[in-house]
Amino acid sequence: MRAIIISVIILLIPLVTYGLPNAVRYTIDAELDTQNNVIIGSEAIQITNRTGQTLNELYFHVYPNAFKRGSNSQYQRDLQISGISLGRIYADPNDDAFMEISSITTGGHALSFSMDDTLLKVQLADPFADGAQIELFIKFIYNLMEASPEGRMAAALAIRSGHRNGVYTISLWYPKLVVYDTSGWHLDPYSYLGEFYGDFADYIVELTVPVSFEVGATGRLEFEVDGSIKRMLSFFADDVHDFAWVASARYQVRELEWEGITLRGLYLTQTALADRGLDAIRFYSEQFGRYAYPIFTIAEVEIGGGMEYPALIMIGFGSDREIAHETAHQWWYGAVGNNEFDEGWLDEGFTVFSEERYLIENLGYPEDFARSSLRFHEPGQIVLQPASQYPSLSNYAAAVYTKGSGILWMLRGLLGKETFDGLLREYYKRFQLKNATTKDFTALTEEMSQKELDWFFDEWLRTTKALDFSVEDVRSTPQGDGRYQNTLTVQRIGDAIMPVLIQIMDSKGETQKIEWDGQEAMKQFVVEGDSPLQNVIVDPERTVLEEVRSNNSWFTGQAQREGLPLGLAVALMRFRSSTQTILGWKDSSSRSSIWAYVRMITGSPTSPQRAAAPFKIMSPEPARPGIA
Ligand SMILES: [Zn+2]
Repeated sequence: MRAIIISVIILLIPLVTYGLPNAVRYTIDAELDTQNNVIIGSEAIQITNRTGQTLNELYFHVYPNAFKRGSNSQYQRDLQISGISLGRIYADPNDDAFMEISSITTGGHALSFSMDDTLLKVQLADPFADGAQIELFIKFIYNLMEASPEGRMAAALAIRSGHRNGVYTISLWYPKLVVYDTSGWHLDPYSYLGEFYGDFADYIVELTVPVSFEVGATGRLEFEVDGSIKRMLSFFADDVHDFAWVASARYQVRELEWEGITLRGLYLTQTALADRGLDAIRFYSEQFGRYAYPIFTIAEVEIGGGMEYPALIMIGFGSDREIAHETAHQWWYGAVGNNEFDEGWLDEGFTVFSEERYLIENLGYPEDFARSSLRFHEPGQIVLQPASQYPSLSNYAAAVYTKGSGILWMLRGLLGKETFDGLLREYYKRFQLKNATTKDFTALTEEMSQKELDWFFDEWLRTTKALDFSVEDVRSTPQGDGRYQNTLTVQRIGDAIMPVLIQIMDSKGETQKIEWDGQEAMKQFVVEGDSPLQNVIVDPERTVLEEVRSNNSWFTGQAQREGLPLGLAVALMRFRSSTQTILGWKDSSSRSSIWAYVRMITGSPTSPQRAAAPFKIMSPEPARPGIA
């Protein structure tokens, strides 16, 4: 027995001696040839092996090959399933996008390599021992696509790199080392759903572009040299997990300074881009902790839509939501990294939650508009699963973006604002410039709240259980001595269990809050008072993730008001939609936020039951077009 125990311990030791992650440094030289629309590049990659293993091969992402015609890549198979043809990707039927590798060497010796989909496998000549360092030199050519006009819709088509109308969006453009973590190599090909996972690394990138071009990039500009035809710019970036850039002769630049951070707006028509970006940077810095890098670039693009890269965001249409979203990614994705392919909610859920708070608290948007989880429809897919498991983009968006955010609103309700806000600040502080996991976040949540919360995270991240609270019955019985016995019956429909607050108000306007642990399916509460109840609301702050809220409240005279004529409800809805258009708010919430308006107009704390019925059939909220 003892021998078995000892051998088990010995087997386990290598697992805990890992010094992961690998230490990586990129030095890239690249020239953008705008005549032929190619990037000719050479890259030196210094890698220190911290895997705890001897490696005989290394893997790199060569993402442009996802788009290569006739390649049968995972991305193109995904497109076929979604009914999207390549004709919607490329502007020209004869165009093609791909990456070619000219050579890979180390110490002057050529290495053999092979490519499969968007993965490049390099066979090492000698074993690469744990703790050792290697430097590889890779020469590559990236043939850029001219994207179709639809290429502005980042989330809908997942085009992230290429050019259109003289604006170059250059991301996923160099051979990038695949992450090796405690699960080994993450050999995920480029996909229509899900984004990226990278090692934090240092970059020195020298870019050569036509002399008329402005360039915005991850990292700070160290120096530039202008010739008569070409301009060379040298960027340095430390502790970033990717490097992207934009370039165009059409760009105008607006530069701002805030507390030692340089904000660069590269715009085509959106002149206030830098100012709007700064407003968001300031808000998130106050909420979560100071922005992590010395420079932030916000660039208007013609393709790729709203998309995040470290210290650089790309903006398509420029809605408040888009700018709020992509800027928030600098905290959740940029500074606190994650494996977005496997745990997308850490990236998109956190970002949507932050974006929603910025819209509400800083720009004054109504909650009904800003909070996407108030319009949640369970997609029947759990949150915590690899992106490749979702059958469609709308499923993925509902689970990872909308429910991901809803879980954080719910956790904030459960822990209280102060504890929760402190938790996010601590999470940012502790995992800044590192990749974090769901396990890291849940452990920290338990540590900070001093609560056991496996039940919460399991229920909401790993099941599709739903929840619906309903006020079933309210009675106020006079006791003869001028006092009343008030009895309310509340039902919990669905399999999910959540504690909830019930707010009651009597006819004198006195309010009380009752805490219910929500364990039983039906619960009766008896409250003695000197007046009858006038109003009952379950979850008055709307923190719990519920699809149906129309049954959460009861009020005196409900019977009369329930019958609000359908015609009136529709007229109110149209009025509400038109006011939103006037104010420049265009969002699918206009249909559901009407209920807030109905409540305001009728003085009713509940949605009119009969009028609500026709709108139950509305389709789930579409994927957020143009925002990824
Ligand atoms: Zn996003």
